[in-house]
Amino acid sequence: MADRYLSLTGTAPGRFLTRRLGLPQPAVLHRWSPDRPVLDGPVLHLTAGPSSLDLAPVLARTGLTVTTRRPEDTVGDPADGSARPAAVVLDATGIRDVDTLARVHAALHPVVRSVAPSGRIVVLGAPLDPADHHQSAAQQALEGFTRSLGKEIGGGRTVNLVRLTDAGAAGSTLRFLLSPRAAYVSGQVIDVLAAAGSAPQADAPRADPGRPLAGRTALVTGAARGIGAAVAETLARDGARVVVLDVPQAEQDARSLADRLGGTALTLDVTAADAGERIAAELPDELDVLVHNAGVTRDRRLVNMPAERWSSVLDVNLASVLRTTDALLAKGTLRPGGRIVATASIAGLAGNAGQTNYGASKAGIVGLVRSLAPRALAEHGVTVNAVAPGFIETRMTAAIPLFLREAGRRMNSLAQGGLPVDVAETTAWLADPASGAVNGQVVRVCGQSLLGA
Ligand code: NAD
Repeated sequence: MADRYLSLTGTAPGRFLTRRLGLPQPAVLHRWSPDRPVLDGPVLHLTAGPSSLDLAPVLARTGLTVTTRRPEDTVGDPADGSARPAAVVLDATGIRDVDTLARVHAALHPVVRSVAPSGRIVVLGAPLDPADHHQSAAQQALEGFTRSLGKEIGGGRTVNLVRLTDAGAAGSTLRFLLSPRAAYVSGQVIDVLAAAGSAPQADAPRADPGRPLAGRTALVTGAARGIGAAVAETLARDGARVVVLDVPQAEQDARSLADRLGGTALTLDVTAADAGERIAAELPDELDVLVHNAGVTRDRRLVNMPAERWSSVLDVNLASVLRTTDALLAKGTLRPGGRIVATASIAGLAGNAGQTNYGASKAGIVGLVRSLAPRALAEHGVTVNAVAPGFIETRMTAAIPLFLREAGRRMNSLAQGGLPVDVAETTAWLADPASGAVNGQVVRVCGQSLLGA
């Protein structure tokens, strides 16, 4: 359903009126398209405190012109009257105490106003050092800083924090965040800390950088429509052979999408006890990417919720994900270097009235990801992460009554709903062979929703 308010604020009179009334000011976001695949402007590389990160090769692969400023240079507007930066990367990995935190302010205060609309600020932090509470305090402070700046910056700009130890291992993550593909990802803290040796695919330049999934097979559950269909399309765009899985009732849609993408359709109810076995039979040891997207809602307040509404949601959204994952890992269907991406929800993080069943199932996904990720990587070479969508414009959200729908759309830093493609782009980044150091993460695709942390 079209966001008419976003269209209104895109006109001069609409902007004037809504500003006078103090209403939200969503910006039209710059999303990836073949015509505009990169951000419109240079990336400014700043450093706050000492750093041993070698970011130059990584930033060179973003497709953006890079301007590097040392701490002593960061006085005044760094754009020097030239193009406004479309992105700023602040390397704050060397900050070890509260005094040096002032360098974050010194670096960003003069430039924040010059960041172009739909621009990006990415703060780089270090893992918290359990043996040093001063370092931990200063590094944790970056989280509150990032989330606060994300809430105030406006203009479709996003602010995220990446904790890393090795710039190369974080290459795919920085390329994603510094691109139009991450338009609806803001206020996130992403750890890229999996041991470099356990990341089976190095971040080496590829023959065809536009098709990182070439030669790989991806299976997406619930892919006949909505977010799942967008995921299948985006993975196919990135070169994957896709298997579009959905229930038998959705066979026609699943087949026509699979035909369009040059993939195959698999009609199957994921709650079937033998779902894992049937997928394994379809893809004997040739699966690289498994996206658990199928999900249902059966909303009712707990007081009115029959057991069947509870168990059906838990079965589709969580139990089937556990069963299928276990079966496919045990059978070795997922190849080393494989990727599992499960779908959580901000309802599982923040809770939502009328959704005790759904919230429980989606919080369960978070538990599954955090527990399984280290073992799946160590034992199978497979990473396990989750996307947690916020308000995404789909049939599901179009059915919400008008006022609740408007509240859901506006209650985030970007003041608008996301699109299925936003979840799909995030999934594609996690599925990238170069994302082997991203493991056990739950990444919200919610425009920095005001709900939950
Ligand atoms: P949707 O209802 O449009 O699509 C879900 C798909 O899953 C459908 O094609 C359906 O047939 C399929 N499916 C359902 N049960 C199945 C089963 N047992 N076996 C196989 N396939 C099954 O939903 P959507 O809005 O695209 O959501 C996709 C995922 O994203 C879900 O997990 C949902 O919980 C999650 N999510 C959505 C939003 C949102 O705003 N739309 C927000 C947070 C999380």
